[in-house]
Amino acid sequence: MITNNAYTLREGDSLDNYSYLVENQKAFFKTGKPKELAFRLEALKKLKSAIQANEKKLMNALKSDLNKSDFDAYTAEIGFVLAELSFTMKHLLSWVKPQKVKTPVTHIGSASYIYSEPYGVSLIIAPWNYPFQLAIAPLIGAIAAGNTAVIKPSELTPNTSALLAELIKGLYPEKYIAVVEGAVETSQALLKEKFDYIFFTGSVPVGRVIMEAAAKNLTPVTLELGGKSPCIVHHDANIKLAAKRIAWGKFTNAGQTCIAPDYLYLHKGIKEEFLSLFKDAIKELYGAEPLNNPNYTHIVSERHFNRLQSFLNNGEVYCGGKTDAQTLAIEPTVLTGITWSDPIMEDEIFGPILPVMEYESLDEVLKGIHNHPKPLALYIFSEHNEVQQEVLGNVSFGGGCVNDTVYHFVSPHLPFGGVGPSGIGSYHGKGSFDTFSHKKSVLKQTTLFDLPFRYPNVKNGLKIIKMFLK
Ligand code: NAD
Repeated sequence: MITNNAYTLREGDSLDNYSYLVENQKAFFKTGKPKELAFRLEALKKLKSAIQANEKKLMNALKSDLNKSDFDAYTAEIGFVLAELSFTMKHLLSWVKPQKVKTPVTHIGSASYIYSEPYGVSLIIAPWNYPFQLAIAPLIGAIAAGNTAVIKPSELTPNTSALLAELIKGLYPEKYIAVVEGAVETSQALLKEKFDYIFFTGSVPVGRVIMEAAAKNLTPVTLELGGKSPCIVHHDANIKLAAKRIAWGKFTNAGQTCIAPDYLYLHKGIKEEFLSLFKDAIKELYGAEPLNNPNYTHIVSERHFNRLQSFLNNGEVYCGGKTDAQTLAIEPTVLTGITWSDPIMEDEIFGPILPVMEYESLDEVLKGIHNHPKPLALYIFSEHNEVQQEVLGNVSFGGGCVNDTVYHFVSPHLPFGGVGPSGIGSYHGKGSFDTFSHKKSVLKQTTLFDLPFRYPNVKNGLKIIKMFLK
C-alpha cells in the first residue's frame, strides 16, 4: 500500500509523479537560501533541538518497529545523529571556506582554490535497519553542504517513517526538505525525477536499480550497500576480548547491521576456547533466554524471519538456534562445520546467526575472501602487527577494525563506505559534507604579466615547456 502522510500531493504531482515537489525544491535552491551559511546552521540547530525534544517518541517508534531497546535506540540512532550534528555545526564554518591549495611553478602568478558547492536537490533513500539514523545522517550532510532534500524512509519501519515525516514537516518547508513516505513504487516514482544527487542506503540488488535510474540523468550517486563482512580471529588474539567485542558487534540489532561480522574465520588452535568464551559473552549480553529478554531486537518482517530460519539447518548449531515466530525473534546463534558451499554463505545474512569456518593458515583465509565480492567491512583480531598488515594489505574492503568490530562506523574522522559491490562513496563527519558538495577547482590568474611560453607562436616555447613538463 502506498501511504503519503508526509508530503501533501499538489497540482502536477501524483503518486507516481513528484515533479511538482522536485521543481519546487529546484526553485527554492535557485533563490540561494539553502546555501547561506547562517541558514544551514539554523537548519542544523533546529534539527538537533527537535531530535532532543522527541527523544522518547523516537525510542517508542523504534521499539514498535524493531523492539529496539532504549539503549540501542540512543547509542546507534539518536545519540549518533546528535554527535554528527554537533560535530558538523562546530566545523562547518571552516569547511565552507574555499580551500587554498598549492600552485605549480608553471602557473606562477596565479593562486588555486577548491570551492565546495552544493549539488542542488538531493534524494535520500533509507533502509529499515537503523531507520532513523540512516535517513538523518545523510540529511545532515545534505543540509551542511547547502542542498535541499527529499527523504524516502523505509516502508518496513512504518512508525519511525511516520515520525520522521512529522518531525521534518514541523521543521522545514517542503520546498526545502520533504519526507515522502511509501514503498518501492514511491521510490521508483521519485527516481523518475531529475535529482542533482542521490544518496542510497540499502541492498546490493536495489543499489543496481538506483544506479541505473541515476545513469539516465547522469546524476551522481553515493551507494551505501552491504555484503558479507568477514571477521578473523588469529591464534595470537586476545581471545576473551575478541569474544566479547564480536558478540556485541554481531548481535546488536539482532545482527541486522550492514557492518556486522557476517561470518567468522577461527584459527584451528583457538577455536574451542574462543567458542566457549563466545557463548559466555552472548549470555552476559542477552541472558540465558534471549527470546525472553525485552531488550533483544526482533527481526523486521516475516519474510526475513523465514529466510533466516532456513539457515538454521546449515552445519551444526553450537549455541542458540531457538526462534519465536510470534515475535519474529531468533536467538543469537552460532553454526559450526560451515563451508563456503553452505547456503548461509551465499549472501549477506543480516540476522543473529554467525557461521564459523576454521583455518590453519592465513593464506586459506585470504583465498576464501578473494573468491568473493569486496566486503563492506572486515575485522581482524591479532596481537601482531605483521598479521594485521598481511590482512589489511591484501584485502580490499570498505572499512573495518583491528581488534574490534563495528566501532569504526561511529568516528566522524573516518569516512564510512564500501568499495566495488559493497558501495560507492562515503560519509560521516566532514565526509558527509564532502559527499554532498561538488569540488569546484578554480585558478585565479594574474593580469600583471603573461608568461609567453604556453603560446605556440613563441620562439623556444616548446623547449621551455619541456623543461617543466617532464
Ligand atoms: P532495500 O535495498 O530493500 O531497501 C532500501 C530502500 O530502497 C527502501 O527505502 C526501499 O523502499 C527502497 N527500494 C526497495 N526496492 C526498490 C526498488 N526496486 N527500486 C527503488 N527503491 C527500492 O534494503 P533494506 O532491506 O531496507 O536494507 C537492508 C540492506 O541495506 C542490507 O543489504 C544492508 O547491508 C544494507 N545497508 C547498508 C548500510 C550501509 O551503510 N552501507 C546500512 C544499512 C543497511
